[in-house]
Amino acid sequence: MIKSVKIAVLLGGNLGDTAAIFDRAVEKLRSGGVKSIRRSAVLKNPAVDCVPGTADFLNAALTGIWSGSAGELLALCQRIEREEGRPAEHSSRESRTLDLDLILFGDECIDQMNLKVPHPRARQRKFVLGPLAEIAPDWRFPDSGESVADALKKLEAAECSQTREEAR
Ligand code: ADP
Ligand code: MG
Repeated sequence: MIKSVKIAVLLGGNLGDTAAIFDRAVEKLRSGGVKSIRRSAVLKNPAVDCVPGTADFLNAALTGIWSGSAGELLALCQRIEREEGRPAEHSSRESRTLDLDLILFGDECIDQMNLKVPHPRARQRKFVLGPLAEIAPDWRFPDSGESVADALKKLEAAECSQTREEAR
């Protein structure tokens, strides 16, 4: 029997009409089998880990129910990225029309070559935790047991003390 799993995906993009691209991506996730989709607001964020001068990104989080494997969901996300104009070969430091990252997959921890869940950089990134906290604040990271809301608070506190250090 195929079990249904709650999933969280982060949408990102900084090339083209990102709001329209996000709307199409969500529809494609729905028609590809993701049910009970909930979306966060779309927020603008400065590019992180990209070459200087890279345009701001828009980001939004989505939760839903998926009946299949994590690998199948990643393949669906990658197909949608390509359909929305993202080249199959690309650098992760480049601007892109659409980035779909699998952040959480139920309570599973996955450590494969092409798929790591929870997404390894999610907890260092406010542009991931912020939108996700809007729609799933109580979801706990399966490896640490920490909730999304608590991870966001911790990150904000760390940023705050870093800013104070820099101001000294
Ligand atoms: P980033 O999303 O970090 O900016 P990319 O989208 O360019 O970088 O990275 C894509 C690669 O990351 C793919 O080859 C994919 O297999 C791998 N990957 C590993 N874990 C995940 C995940 N949780 N979600 C999406 N892609 C992942
Ligand atoms: Mg990605």
